[in-house]
Amino acid sequence: MSVTNDPEATTTPAQRLAGLVRESASTVALTGAGISVPSGIPDFRTPGKGLWTKVDPMKVAHIDAFHRDTKSFWEYDRPRFGMLADKEPNSAHRALSELEARGLLVAVITQNIDRLHGKAGSRQVVEVHGSIATSSCTTCGARFPLDEVEALFDSDGVAVCPGCVGKVKPDVVLFGELLPESAIRRAQALCQRAELLLCVGSSLEVYPVAGLPELTLDAGGRLAIVTQGPTPYDAAATVRLDGDVTDELAAVLAALG
Ligand code: ZN
Repeated sequence: MSVTNDPEATTTPAQRLAGLVRESASTVALTGAGISVPSGIPDFRTPGKGLWTKVDPMKVAHIDAFHRDTKSFWEYDRPRFGMLADKEPNSAHRALSELEARGLLVAVITQNIDRLHGKAGSRQVVEVHGSIATSSCTTCGARFPLDEVEALFDSDGVAVCPGCVGKVKPDVVLFGELLPESAIRRAQALCQRAELLLCVGSSLEVYPVAGLPELTLDAGGRLAIVTQGPTPYDAAATVRLDGDVTDELAAVLAALG
């Protein structure tokens, strides 16, 4: 009887990923739109289903459009934000908060603006594209939590600051805007120190997230990818899971015991 020493022959990808998580002293998760799809939030990059196939992003998601035609901006974004506010985290979000609670995950870096990692119980969350949690006055800087924004709309459908009558803008990064510097710096530091970067539901193609796995690899860390569809980092990944994110992370948790 022959005995195989090849671990790939006897373990599933989810078990191998669980092994990497166990071995790693510093695991960081990097998440994109794919982790929120099971919560009913469409990935705008998915062909045919995308948000941007119905509207021109330069008219509803560009900082110039916000300032030039604030009424049209909010006509589109007010119901969208209302839709996002009602969404609930799914088991993939909860799997990551569970890993953090067990001391197996340092932080989550996310491209998503939907707050679902925080809702799922994750404590260390770096939102590199901002979030819908707050909106701010573009004149005086006053900040309003999401549940107070609805009361700021005037009869034209524009959110107006009660203090200075300036325009109020959601604290999400629009096209044409700079990324939040402190969040980017924190994300970069986390990725440089990570022994394992666990990428979930991201095509890893959109800046700044596209550059982060390189930082982990350059510092000698490993990459694990849990995403449907190809990414530019597939060849560099130690393990690659391409099933549904909720199923895959459930299998990883099960393998961790
Ligand atoms: Zn103001």
